[in-house]
Amino acid sequence: MEYGIQKCLDKFVCMGAECEDTCCKGWRIGIDKDSYKAYRRKKGAFGRRLFLGIDHKNQCFRLKGRACAFLNQEGFCDIYKEMGRKGMCRECREYPRHVEDYGVRREAMLCLSCPEAARVILGDREQGSWRIWQQGKEKKDSRKDQQECLEALEEIRSAMVCLLKDRSVGWGQRMAMVLALTHDFQRHWEEEYKGDCKDGCGILCEECSICKRKGIIWWAERLSGRYLKKGAAERFAKQFLDFQGKPDERMIRIRAWLRLMEGMEPVLEEWEKKPGQMCRELYHDLDEREYEELRQKFEEKARGLEQEWENLAIYFINTYVLGAMYDKNVYGKGKLMVFSLAVIREWCLFLYGRRGRFGREELVEAAHEYSRQVENSDKNLEFLEEQFGKNRLFGVREMMAVIG
Ligand code: SF4
Repeated sequence: MEYGIQKCLDKFVCMGAECEDTCCKGWRIGIDKDSYKAYRRKKGAFGRRLFLGIDHKNQCFRLKGRACAFLNQEGFCDIYKEMGRKGMCRECREYPRHVEDYGVRREAMLCLSCPEAARVILGDREQGSWRIWQQGKEKKDSRKDQQECLEALEEIRSAMVCLLKDRSVGWGQRMAMVLALTHDFQRHWEEEYKGDCKDGCGILCEECSICKRKGIIWWAERLSGRYLKKGAAERFAKQFLDFQGKPDERMIRIRAWLRLMEGMEPVLEEWEKKPGQMCRELYHDLDEREYEELRQKFEEKARGLEQEWENLAIYFINTYVLGAMYDKNVYGKGKLMVFSLAVIREWCLFLYGRRGRFGREELVEAAHEYSRQVENSDKNLEFLEEQFGKNRLFGVREMMAVIG
């Protein structure tokens, strides 16, 4: 079994009561089975309090207003005070660290929705790099096709990260190349799986001896090589020219993306008003010329945080791309990265318009709030995934127009 842990994870320390946006507010925290049993066994006054503070039907903590019923006036957790760290449920103990299991590989990384974790992620000089080791035997149920799928996706993920780090290429084009790579890989992946292979391998790791189709590892290597080859960026730049220098089109599309987010399950306080507020202040109160002037000034400041933007994009790549081994939708992961980065950038523009300043703290604020609203709700992630698949706002050309 292979384990990967992100190196920056060790740098995280919870701010506790000092936190500006505690994770004990805004959503119902689910309780794992073992903790639930321990809470039911707890006797005395605190046992009674636990009984009343848990929603037993949904096995989660009840909310008092927007906050967890066990968050006290001083901003501390009463379960921690009473039962110690071991008494906390798994989610509270682990957050903002999260572990993903990909069969033969398990990865641990930080979640962007915690403001302190967002600071660590954005300031990570090693840019999302992993500490990797092997331990224990391979899982008995690990299938050959899953291993090959993982290998191919790891290849694509590394290529995406390399493309993003290449500062000789403009930021918009780097994002566009990453999106195009996932688009091309998805197309070949689907084509290869069309129809039954006569020898029934269904894996297509190498050229199939019967139907002569290529495998996904073959395509992952070939496409990564093509995108990273010397001169590839220059060739891509010519095609990308079609999407650049169209501020009106960009504004219409990003506004539509923000409007779409109004339909999400609210996680942030007053989320229902947030996208409307952003749209009003950016696209209604300003005319097109004023908006573009503001954006140009903001872009100059944003360029000063190059590593932070890269780290943000790498975060979305590292968090989601390998998950495509389960839903076979790597293009959707590329779209999620582009969408997230574009919305967070627009969110920062909104903050810049209001405050007249933009720096790392504004980026932390926009990024962790976006993540809390989107990533901390499975419903919202599913909503986006569905939109990416069917909504014409998310065609490759339409998305390029926003990045351009
Ligand atoms: S959001 Fe992060 S820093 Fe704040 S209380 Fe939760 S884990 Fe700690």
